[in-house]
Amino acid sequence: MFIESFKVESPNVKYTENEIHSVYDYQTTELVHENKNGAFQWTVKPKTVKYEFKTDTHVPKLGVMLVGWGGNNGSTLTAGVIANREGISWATKEKVQQANYFGSLTQASSIRVGSFNGEEIYAPFKSLLPMVNPEEIVFGGWDISDMNLADAMARAKVLDIDLQKQLRPLMEHMVPLPGIFDPDFIAANQGSRANHVIKGTKKQQLEQVIKDIREFKEKNKVDKVVVLWTANTERYSNVVVGLNDTTENLMSSLEKDEAEISPSTLYAIACVLENVPFINGSPQNTFVPGLIELAIERNCLIGGDDFKSGQTKMKSVLVDFLVGAGIKPTSIVSYNHLGNNDGMNLSAPQTFRSKEISKSNVVDDMVGSNGILYEPGEHPDHVVVIKYVPYVGDSKRAMDEYTSEIFMGGKNTIVMHNTCEDSLLAAPIILDLVLLAELTTRIQFMAETEGKFHSFHPVATLLSYLSKAPLVPPGTPVVNALSKQRAMLENILRACVGLAPENNMILEYK
Ligand code: NAD
Repeated sequence: MFIESFKVESPNVKYTENEIHSVYDYQTTELVHENKNGAFQWTVKPKTVKYEFKTDTHVPKLGVMLVGWGGNNGSTLTAGVIANREGISWATKEKVQQANYFGSLTQASSIRVGSFNGEEIYAPFKSLLPMVNPEEIVFGGWDISDMNLADAMARAKVLDIDLQKQLRPLMEHMVPLPGIFDPDFIAANQGSRANHVIKGTKKQQLEQVIKDIREFKEKNKVDKVVVLWTANTERYSNVVVGLNDTTENLMSSLEKDEAEISPSTLYAIACVLENVPFINGSPQNTFVPGLIELAIERNCLIGGDDFKSGQTKMKSVLVDFLVGAGIKPTSIVSYNHLGNNDGMNLSAPQTFRSKEISKSNVVDDMVGSNGILYEPGEHPDHVVVIKYVPYVGDSKRAMDEYTSEIFMGGKNTIVMHNTCEDSLLAAPIILDLVLLAELTTRIQFMAETEGKFHSFHPVATLLSYLSKAPLVPPGTPVVNALSKQRAMLENILRACVGLAPENNMILEYK
């Protein structure tokens, strides 16, 4: 059964006018590794730590500024949200289609709240805590192409034509602000698109972005802004001692107009200086060490990298299942071909390399979790190929072959063909990223030993479910397995309303 909303009644939870306050027992373990009578031994001690969470329930008016607003993702997301807001339906060759948010964790998935009369009861994910309604978001942003959003939607060739016709008058007036363009960081084939660029030195470009954010906020009377990079994949920037390894060096490199500071890093610095959350939806290393240090210093949320939309999402499910079943994946070979502008940009070796790196570490945590199957340091062969095939447009094909060793030397091969309508998969993920980033900035918590409330670490690991290569604070484990990432997010939000983690034990019926 499905219910729309619920309220928690517990001595551990207080709903006040402005916040939800919960007291929470976090059950964890403490590990001890010690020498006992000449032999090392592990001891696991269950431990309970008391936490308090408080969530500000005032939902702000949110502005979302997309870098690459006029791209396939940017135009598809904007169009999709307007279509939902306006209740638009359109004719396809099969049926009359209604606008929806399928593919969005926050808008279209559910959580289990308990059992009632022998039935499982579910509620919308978004009913856990007050979140921004997507239809109230004000969209804006930058693009190096001056095309308005209605034309950009047509250029993207993603949405049905009957829908495009209805949306056109609602999107024609939306024109991106000029963007920071540096041909050294993206493929040469993107040059002809760049007719709308911010001039000047790197510092002047950064100052312009700051001015743009302030003016956007003022003009649209929004309380908060989140910025998200959905522009072209850039090449990796070189991380060099003295250049971008510390905040001080990064800021002095900016003064010197150093060529190696990428456009994405410039947008991100601008956001951190303005205390505006910045999320990177592409694979490049926007977050150079000096920038991460700056975000930590200023306690400004940064998150990324690279939307986890298609092939990698499947990988982080399938390998988790195989390794969890005691089956040993030994070779994972992934081919992609796509024909959109992203594919054209990725056809250059240096931008492809960014994608290859981002896709490559995705099985590490799962492999590392099973020392029965793998020797220390052993990895399956893992190869990723991406080819540009214009004809398939935004309808990316992802083909994977997983070969595994099974019982008694047997081999199991799974072959998968995945048609990933790229931007239709990515757009709801962008929505989740900005909604969850905003929500997490309203949550404060403390462990009983800390004595003082604080926000989550500015490097937002809570967003990892949505990221191909989750950015984590220095010295923190990376979790790629999809079910663990979802459970982490759901359970932390449950903790904010005093609900125990979903443990799937259903002891009531055993
Ligand atoms: P796109 O090429 O259609 O859109 C990118 C837009 O960014 C273009 O309009 C371009 O003009 C603009 N742009 C480029 N550099 C800019 C800059 N410096 N400042 C402002 N605008 C700039 O690509 P897309 O299909 O929308 O994908 C966007 C990004 O998302 C790509 O990097 C892609 O790798 C990444 N991504 C997409 C998916 C997916 O679609 N499923 C998944 C993971 C990652």
